[in-house]
Amino acid sequence: MGWIDFLFPRFCLGCGWPGVYLCDKCLGRLRFCPEICFYCARRSWLGKTHHPCLVDGPIDGWSSLFYYDRLTKKIIGEAKYRQFYRVLHEFCFGLGRCEVLRRLGRLKDLADGQVDYYLPVPLHPQKHQERGFNQADIIAAWLQGFLPRPLFAGVERVRPTLPQAQQKTIVKRRQNLRRAFRIINRAAVVGKTFLVVDDVVTSGATVTELARALKIAGAARVYLFTLARGRRN
Ligand SMILES: [Zn+2]
Ligand SMILES: [Zn+2]
Repeated sequence: MGWIDFLFPRFCLGCGWPGVYLCDKCLGRLRFCPEICFYCARRSWLGKTHHPCLVDGPIDGWSSLFYYDRLTKKIIGEAKYRQFYRVLHEFCFGLGRCEVLRRLGRLKDLADGQVDYYLPVPLHPQKHQERGFNQADIIAAWLQGFLPRPLFAGVERVRPTLPQAQQKTIVKRRQNLRRAFRIINRAAVVGKTFLVVDDVVTSGATVTELARALKIAGAARVYLFTLARGRRN
């Protein structure tokens, strides 16, 4: 037992079983979601947005590992405040490792072999300071182990947004997010392909707003990777 285990005793984030971050039982219960179009939610090759669906918005494709169900909600929620990086590694060593590795191997194909930058969805500086880290940064660092690409740091979140859950209607949610992101260095964005990274997508409003800001600034393509996807409404 290393010092880190002494300071942070391990127990399964799903069920509390001691000694691991994810036990075999919980790993076996993780449900992989199919590769679907971000807009119409029908199956699509690698998660690419169908051609006719591209008129609906700025996201060119989406890869997500799991459904955002009770188990993944618990794991991701707990992991935020613990050894998130180690939890991500356990996804790759557990029962679903073949599928996780296969999905990560397909990220490059999703973007037609072309990813210039990872862009972890930025938190507002105030929130970042409160939490001490951005979970999207940790996920992007983990992805770099499979597909080495630089992180893009030229976007900031300029407006603290109210929690999406408190926004009653879709219109209110959108208003809440409008101009939430600012591109600091526009020249660096032009013609580039981005892989936006976040832990979970539920309504999709935040990543849509970020992708829109990138496209307006001249980005060629914007793809999305998330650990889990909830139901969009
Ligand atoms: Zn468990
Ligand atoms: Zn579609």
